[in-house]
Amino acid sequence: MLGAGENGRVKVKGSRQSMTAHLLSALEPKLDESALLTVDLGALGRNWREVARRSQPGICSAVIKADGYGLGLEPVMRVLLAQGCSTFFVATLSEGRRARAVSRDATIYLLNGLAQDSPVGLKALNIRPVLNRLAEIAEWTAAGGGTAALHIDTGMNRLGLPAKDADLATILAQGFTLSLVMSHFACAERASAAMNDRQIAEFAALRAKFPGVPASLANSSGIFLPQNPVLDLTRPGYAVYGGNPTPGRANPMEPVVRLAARILEMRDAAPGETVGYGATWAATRPTRLAVVGVGYADGLPVSASAAPGKPPAEAFVEGRRCPIVGRVSMDLSVLDVTDARGAERGGWVEILGEEIGVDELAERARTIGYEILTRLGQRYARAYVGG
Ligand SMILES: *Cc1c(COP(=O)(O)O)cnc(C)c1O
Repeated sequence: MLGAGENGRVKVKGSRQSMTAHLLSALEPKLDESALLTVDLGALGRNWREVARRSQPGICSAVIKADGYGLGLEPVMRVLLAQGCSTFFVATLSEGRRARAVSRDATIYLLNGLAQDSPVGLKALNIRPVLNRLAEIAEWTAAGGGTAALHIDTGMNRLGLPAKDADLATILAQGFTLSLVMSHFACAERASAAMNDRQIAEFAALRAKFPGVPASLANSSGIFLPQNPVLDLTRPGYAVYGGNPTPGRANPMEPVVRLAARILEMRDAAPGETVGYGATWAATRPTRLAVVGVGYADGLPVSASAAPGKPPAEAFVEGRRCPIVGRVSMDLSVLDVTDARGAERGGWVEILGEEIGVDELAERARTIGYEILTRLGQRYARAYVGG
């Protein structure tokens, strides 16, 4: 059940186990890394089924851009295919190529449209562009067409056809099959935002110009809005990977990512002694410190350190929450483990997991969980469990 994978990654098959001591001790002889990232593909599959259930009567796709939100495009896509997901969204052509290599038959949409990618390359891979402007519609038609989606902007002012061009688009798009008309929420994670109602109303009027074409508006948080704007197709990403689509309320999703770091060194600091660059923290009591092998190069942001008016992020050590002390450095962080009896050199601490989720770490680092996920480092040993 254990085998050393390519790139020094460790693969674990046929287990629904979370990151237990058993798993760690099984892996230990294989590990020369000082941290282990565990991706629970079972939880990922259950999260997708849950958002798919909430998307009914619409169909649920999955957004797997940015290497499956940092968790690995290929293993993520394989598990979702097995759960019955057949439509995927990527951002770039290289991601599309990887997704096509996983599945010959899946429907794959490329969100960035024709911005950098030629119609020829997309067609060769049977990838559908999400067209974002009139010129792209014309270019796609000139290249002979083929099935494509159209993104109409309703307030993001990022990619997407300006709403005023929608009428012209209905005419220009007659040269090929439009399989989807979509827009994107700006504030779906705030259920009370007035902008949600505005975007829902504007998109309803715009999609009506394309009779018979399936429509899509909801990302993860959109699926949980009281207006229930699931339409014909939903496009969840974050919730599938365990992020909380309903900030401020309990997370309805299961955690997918667990990040454990090894204690490389234990030390004692007397009152007045400081830790780390800038000597930003000083002991106020005799303190037991644990040095762990995860730093900002691994995606633990410097901003997870304490700052004026903001507590530091914590790690879970021997059943206790222990704060980061001093400034997170490139490869190392230091924890105050005075209260975690049993912490010792060679032991493991949990930076992300059941106890401390990506949303909590993001809040303590003054960022969003999406950024935490997509910046998870590449030098971790990785274990895929439960797939
Ligand atoms: C990234 C993205 C999504 C997925 O959003 P989540 O909030 O992760 O669910 C959906 N639609 C578009 C257009 C996106 O760019």
